[in-house]
Amino acid sequence: MTPNPETRPIVETLTYLDHAATTPLDPRVTAAMEPYWSTVYGNPSSMYQLAREARRAIDTARDEVAGLLGARAAEIIFTSSGSESDNFAVKGVAFAQRDHGRHIITSQVEHHAVLHATEFLEQLGFEVTYLPVDQFGMVDPDAVARAIRDDTILISIMYANNEVGTIQPIEEIAKVTRARGVPFHVDAVQAGGALDLSVDRLGVDLLSLSGHKFYGPKGTGALYIRRGTSCWPLIHGGGQERGRRAGTENVAGIVGFATALKLAQSERNANNQHSQRLRDRLIAGILGSIPGVRLTGHPDRRLCNNASFVFEGVSGESLLLALDRRGIMASTGSACTSGSLEPSHVLLAMGYPPRLAAGSLRLTLGKDNSDADVDRVLDVMPGLVEQLRRIEAEARLV
Ligand SMILES: *Cc1c(COP(=O)(O)O)cnc(C)c1O
Repeated sequence: MTPNPETRPIVETLTYLDHAATTPLDPRVTAAMEPYWSTVYGNPSSMYQLAREARRAIDTARDEVAGLLGARAAEIIFTSSGSESDNFAVKGVAFAQRDHGRHIITSQVEHHAVLHATEFLEQLGFEVTYLPVDQFGMVDPDAVARAIRDDTILISIMYANNEVGTIQPIEEIAKVTRARGVPFHVDAVQAGGALDLSVDRLGVDLLSLSGHKFYGPKGTGALYIRRGTSCWPLIHGGGQERGRRAGTENVAGIVGFATALKLAQSERNANNQHSQRLRDRLIAGILGSIPGVRLTGHPDRRLCNNASFVFEGVSGESLLLALDRRGIMASTGSACTSGSLEPSHVLLAMGYPPRLAAGSLRLTLGKDNSDADVDRVLDVMPGLVEQLRRIEAEARLV
């Protein structure tokens, strides 16, 4: 098979700048997981030494995660992903509270794991308020207060946005939800490695995490459920996770999740400083060398590793493909659904016109990135954008 000339890479060096999509496993995490794939294979529910050893590993992991969140071990449930944790929280609370009310509040910029779960609940007769955001992607705590009704049973707002990196005023929103006694779920998947997760300081009742966003294994997650918050299980079967999530535990995955969270939280300041320095170089370099480009998301209240932009006159997809040929891996908010490019729901909610939202690019840094990675991007971007603009302008003429 001859490679398609359009997609054939033209460089050897790979530059990974998509850490909001996923992160590589930290070798220390791989090492911690290894025994539970090889020698310690007992079913944690069984009654012999090998099983007890696996059970102990889960117990230790749960204690560690609870400690990092300032929670009790019994309040942590291990899941298969951030998506499962979000679905568990949103549907689990809705089902448990359905006799008290059917109204849910969330925002227009949530991850699809929340938005598609609430849309599903709408089909079952629940009513959902999707709060708007400002131009920076921020939810207004006063708007949350105004939206609460007597039949509101759940509020779900993300900690940090996965596309533009905006950090929501979770503590201020929690003051509102607590005053009204409404359970508050926070999708903290993007915040897991970058922000403080103390559930009492934040004032949240449910909190979702995903292992692969902080150098842990894919297919692992956790949900914090504050004691006294009713939440129905989604998976029925055996009595694992205190009867709240059936299924033989992913022992290696749980150990990997806890190890990765522990490392990410203890090395948080150093990693954030490193990312932020590179991010600021990227942002200044791109804004300074390319006309018709804007930074998206909040200028200060944003994740340390997130540099996201919209480019006039270029589609995000063509930018991604062109960068990929140069070994640079990035992301765009627009999603290709059934052949047409749908602009990002996040950018539309922030007020960007579809034409501009279609030209979005997200670069998210990680602990392994270096100044050389930033240099490479700043080296190729101006010429690339100019070239693509010319091509796309010509295509519009014919
Ligand atoms: C990645 C992500 C999810 C989904 O997590 P998975 O583990 O990939 O299912 C949910 N919410 C946010 C904000 C995310 O960034």
